[in-house]
Amino acid sequence: MKNTIFEKEKLTALFEKLSTSSTILIFGHKSPDGDSIGSTLALHHYLAAKGITSRVIHPDGFPNFLKWMKGTDSILCFDKNSSEVKELILQAEVIFNLDFNEQSRVGMELGELLKKSEATKVMIDHHQQPDDFADFTFSDTSSCSTCQLVYEFIEANDDLRLISPEMGSCLYSGILTDTGSFRFSSVTEKTHQIAAQLIAAGVNHSAIHEAIYDVNTPERLKLLGYTLNNKLEVLPEIKTAIISLTKQELLKHNTQKGYTEGFVNMALSMLGIEVAVFVKEDDKMVKISFRSKGEIPVNEFSKMYFNGGGHINAAGGASQLSVEETVNKIKKELPAFLSQLTQ
Ligand code: 5GP
Ligand code: MN
Repeated sequence: MKNTIFEKEKLTALFEKLSTSSTILIFGHKSPDGDSIGSTLALHHYLAAKGITSRVIHPDGFPNFLKWMKGTDSILCFDKNSSEVKELILQAEVIFNLDFNEQSRVGMELGELLKKSEATKVMIDHHQQPDDFADFTFSDTSSCSTCQLVYEFIEANDDLRLISPEMGSCLYSGILTDTGSFRFSSVTEKTHQIAAQLIAAGVNHSAIHEAIYDVNTPERLKLLGYTLNNKLEVLPEIKTAIISLTKQELLKHNTQKGYTEGFVNMALSMLGIEVAVFVKEDDKMVKISFRSKGEIPVNEFSKMYFNGGGHINAAGGASQLSVEETVNKIKKELPAFLSQLTQ
């Protein structure tokens, strides 16, 4: 097997620890996406199939289009169940960290609790530059998704036969959403082999696609129409498109969680555009999504100017400035960043 991050000795030691632990927690990241929800639930189902009980915890809620996955109703959200989560962290013997590689990605307060915990920490993740906080670090920055890594974790344990259609559907969803439906350059032959194996295990790929993508409401389509009509700024000289939405605009369109998911990809889909940015005002801050084509490392730009990170072609960050000031800062700093790449 080509993949070597799941070394036999490490797996044996991990499963020894799991077999003697009574409180095992599986954390995903803030504002969870398909990969975060899919990987945490798939791992939970896999451990259950091995007779190991675990709890899935997320910092906050997730969009409706992911709620069909088996196990979502048992996910604990820190923002709604903080005292129960705090109690569980105190008891925890093993804490899995999935689809993130720095503890602050679960939010400030929860991140501090995780840092203080003396539980054995396990990281399974595919983001760049992993922090060194885990006792077991399974990091593959070339992998398309954490769901692919969870599949490979199961495979390394010779347990592929345990993949049920429900567990497989969680894995397939994370791979699907994190690869832009199998289109990003992170997709490999192995990714397609895994998809084939999941379909063989009973996953209905077409139903999953429909459940995740064919869920538009008239309000969401109107918000998209408004955004593209009024808030799309094209900067041809730097092959960049920026879209932005203020809180007022979001409220006016009765925006629900997940409505703006994918908007940034619409900007990137334009001919000749290599960088797309979506700036959105949240409750406490302005959130920025970056996407790029080819060799443009938007994660570095986000890290440099917006305390963010992510992948080369898909990254995020945050700003304490207003939406307008944030857009202006991007317009000011991006040209120099892009031009030094070609030098
Ligand atoms: P999105 O634009 O979909 O929110 O995020 C794109 C990618 O960037 C995801 O892989 C996500 O994990 C990462 N990302 C988003 N926001 C942040 C952030 O504030 N910090 C870091 N380090 N990564 C982020
Ligand atoms: Mn991911």
